[in-house]
Amino acid sequence: MSKMLNRRRFLQASAATAASLGVSAIRAFGSDYDEYVEAIVIGSGFGGAVASLRLGQAGIETIVLERGRKWQITDKGDTFCRIDNPDGRAAWLSPTTILPTPVPEIPIDVYTGVFDVKRGNGINAYRGAGVGGGSLVYGGITYQPTEELFYKVFARTIKYSELDRVYYPRVRSILKVSPIPDDILQTEYYLASRILQEQAAKAGLQVRKIDIAFDWDIVRQEIAGQKVASVIAGQVYYGTNSGAKNSLDRNYLSMAEATGNVEIRPLHVVTMIEESDRGRYRVVCNQINEQGVVLAQKSFVCRYLFLAAGSIGTPELLLRAKSNGTLRRLNNQIGKFWGTNSDSNTIMINASQTNATLGSPGVIAVEHLDNPIAPVILEPFQSLPFIPQGLNPILGQGISKPEGYFTYNVSTQSTDLFWPINSADSQRNAQALLYTYERLNQANGTSLAAPPDYSFTAHPLGGATIGEVCNTYGQVFGYHNLFVVDGSLIPGSTACTNPSLTIAALAERSMDHFLNRVK
Ligand SMILES: Cc1cc2nc3c(=O)[nH]c(=O)nc-3n(C[C@H](O)[C@H](O)[C@H](O)COP(=O)(O)OP(=O)(O)OC[C@H]3O[C@@H](n4cnc5c(N)ncnc54)[C@H](O)[C@@H]3O)c2cc1C
Repeated sequence: MSKMLNRRRFLQASAATAASLGVSAIRAFGSDYDEYVEAIVIGSGFGGAVASLRLGQAGIETIVLERGRKWQITDKGDTFCRIDNPDGRAAWLSPTTILPTPVPEIPIDVYTGVFDVKRGNGINAYRGAGVGGGSLVYGGITYQPTEELFYKVFARTIKYSELDRVYYPRVRSILKVSPIPDDILQTEYYLASRILQEQAAKAGLQVRKIDIAFDWDIVRQEIAGQKVASVIAGQVYYGTNSGAKNSLDRNYLSMAEATGNVEIRPLHVVTMIEESDRGRYRVVCNQINEQGVVLAQKSFVCRYLFLAAGSIGTPELLLRAKSNGTLRRLNNQIGKFWGTNSDSNTIMINASQTNATLGSPGVIAVEHLDNPIAPVILEPFQSLPFIPQGLNPILGQGISKPEGYFTYNVSTQSTDLFWPINSADSQRNAQALLYTYERLNQANGTSLAAPPDYSFTAHPLGGATIGEVCNTYGQVFGYHNLFVVDGSLIPGSTACTNPSLTIAALAERSMDHFLNRVK
């Protein structure tokens, strides 16, 4: 019998005894918390999933507290709602859908849906919610930065050669990533990608296929009509019903649970973290129902606490702890060094058909890393509904300086986010992007529908960064057993790539270091 199960039985027995006395389980034995567990992981996205698996494999009893619900792929293929026919499942506790313009807001029921936005000053930052975090809504793009660009962002204390040799391959093997096979790239669903590929070649720009965390055999089944059309129908950002997306709940997290040492608790919103006695941590959360109504408040005490609530959630928990004095030794760098990965959305106008609402996004990347102003990459950004033929939305990414920051708003008990959209660095990145587009347009007779839009990011990073808030392995300065393992560690950019691979690889590296220490 697993240790977790034994523990649960002990707690149930304790609860029965306690209930007869009219008190909660552990409180009955004189403590101010409901449960004790060796390790707690807050959040189940990339950082949290890696931490959970490695803790479980090391035999450390772990509870994962995740604010969102669990999503199970079914044969019926209706787990998630469609982008072009949304309902409450589309957004986190919001009365309307929240996809960025040009997609219109549509009224929906308030529900614990998969997609969330943090509306800030100068930026809207998008993220996922649910067991699997951002992987539920992501495009599966699994992209490794070059060594040269990596060191434009990260300190030399992180050895790129080690990531390249050990951790990037380890993550790729668990996510089961591979580039799009040619037979699928040649279908009508990927016309927009092929168009950009050809345009880049004509402009003398480097272009290549990127690894994607999709099961391409399932995509073939979608094409054959044997599975519900999901990836091929541009159904990615609200979840992928066919099961083609290898989201974290279907690899890292299910492997973690299979160790018998890890229990995932969905619909648990952590509201407070604090230092407890004997160097332990107390975590308080609200258990909610699927409509977001609070059912109960629970508290836990653990020896090891891993923060993985993402680069919006983790800075918020830390800033609240600092503001409320529950973690008094946190320094003043919390909430700083945040950035957007220089995300931009641009729509290219083509003379011919593009099929831009179909096909999963970003199967190829145009790499203009020697752009004379600043390095830039472009990826097709299909899968948004309502894009007419002839248009091709493109996601640009670069290296933004981490000039964004959060402040803590005591009256709302949450953070305010600030991003200097017109800073010199932002303008330089925008000029670099325009330079690349001019080259594409001149070679292909294309044009831009409007200037690139920098008002949103799907790749928020930073807020509890390495070297400022944490050491190189994510240990928070001043707290021996408190760790950040998510995108908050990264100062604003993953060097011209989508961030999930680097977030997960750094988490793998931190967990190796941690487990070597506690062995
Ligand atoms: C639309 C979209 C598409 C994307 N596509 C790609 C892509 O193709 N490739 C790529 O590399 N990246 C992509 N990204 C970015 C990627 O999803 C993120 O970089 C990544 O998920 C961040 O990982 P993380 O571990 O930092 O946090 P997250 O994955 O955001 O996980 C944080 C988790 O913590 C939970 N949480 C937050 N607060 C609390 C709380 N108080 N209590 C309990 N739980 C909490 C959240 O619900 C979430 O599950 C995309 C993002 C979006 C929004």
